[in-house]
Amino acid sequence: MRFVDNPEAAVLAAAKDMLRRGLVEGTAGNISARREDGNLVITPSSVDYAEMMLDDLVVVDPDGEVLHAGEGRSPSTEMKLHLACYKAFDDIGAVIHSHPVWATMFAIAHQTIPACIDEFAVYCGGEIRCTEYAASGTPDVGANAVKALEGRAAALIANHGMVAVGPRPDKALHVTALVERTAQIVWGARALGVPVPIPDDVNAGFAGIYSYLRANPM
Ligand SMILES: [Zn+2]
Repeated sequence: MRFVDNPEAAVLAAAKDMLRRGLVEGTAGNISARREDGNLVITPSSVDYAEMMLDDLVVVDPDGEVLHAGEGRSPSTEMKLHLACYKAFDDIGAVIHSHPVWATMFAIAHQTIPACIDEFAVYCGGEIRCTEYAASGTPDVGANAVKALEGRAAALIANHGMVAVGPRPDKALHVTALVERTAQIVWGARALGVPVPIPDDVNAGFAGIYSYLRANPM
């Protein structure tokens, strides 16, 4: 089971960085990390990232039972998505759920983001799939995300946003930013004409590197 060293500090740092990079607004989205004891640290519901402090973070067990929360703090309403990811993938230590604009455009169109930039597949494992639709807050959001995440570092959540996984919050944030940037680039390339795909064997080689790095994170 993968876990994160100093998970509270790592979650808070990634939350601040996510805001700074313009990948989230106000209180939207959420970040979590797995602790050595198997429990999870997750950002609270309805607290602005700019004001968030270590005491605001919530600790839950793998079933979502709250073990520790500051006064008036509760885990994100989208916690079930995080729980489903940790349950399905033993080799991840962090989950980030966000609603960045360009990636969410693809999520609303139910379109895959192709692995059409060199080395995209090194960080993401291949093209980024979109889930089947499920209403926010229902267990199906997590179940559908797990299916779309198979062998990948991210998935689009239909009509909602995206989810990224990684060994640590900073790595999952890097994937979030890369998917968002690629969504914007693909959109622009389509406006110019038909994007030219990378040869399958090249992407397959990159995906092999992704698999290796997922098992042996740096
Ligand atoms: Zn959301």
